[in-house]
Amino acid sequence: MEKLSFKDLRIFRTSGELQVNTYLFSLHGINYVVDPGKGIGKYVDRIKCDVIITHGHYDHIAGIRELEVDRLYISPEDSAFLREARLNLSGFFNDIVSMDISWYNIDDYFDTLLAPGHTPGSRIVVFEGVLFTGDVVFSDTVGRADLNPIPGQQRVMSKTVRTLSKIFKQFPQDWYVCPGHGDIVTLEKLFKMNPFFK
Ligand SMILES: [Zn+2]
Repeated sequence: MEKLSFKDLRIFRTSGELQVNTYLFSLHGINYVVDPGKGIGKYVDRIKCDVIITHGHYDHIAGIRELEVDRLYISPEDSAFLREARLNLSGFFNDIVSMDISWYNIDDYFDTLLAPGHTPGSRIVVFEGVLFTGDVVFSDTVGRADLNPIPGQQRVMSKTVRTLSKIFKQFPQDWYVCPGHGDIVTLEKLFKMNPFFK
């Protein structure tokens, strides 16, 4: 597992009022951008980077177009979201995102935890010290399951949260939970303040 220090992350709020947390860090000389929302180009001037996508929703992928992407990592289940506005929900925001872009299976290159429910292919991306939790786990709640194109995902989401709760307990509690929206907390704090993790 790759080590990543929280203090080496740069964090930007992107995608306008949707307020996505976009994370930047460098590892082994490569710039990584996690979940580039619209407007990331205002903060970083077309840097060459590898892009990690926690899940394929519009607000987490709309800024890909503003970057010089070398490799893009996403789950196979959510990869179609890049191309299909119907799946990534960009139509709701009058900004159709439909990208014909090549991608790599995130599971082959990073330590990931399967976390279906919010989308079929949501992933928790695990570094030693930092967990990128996308829209699955927030500081004080968990993600919606009713946006998933597959119906009846509430139970899947509940199971995901139960599984993650067990796994998260095994990790050092000073690791950071870096969600797609809202506050960043340590695992210790997550277990105190998030009712789904009590
Ligand atoms: Zn989402």
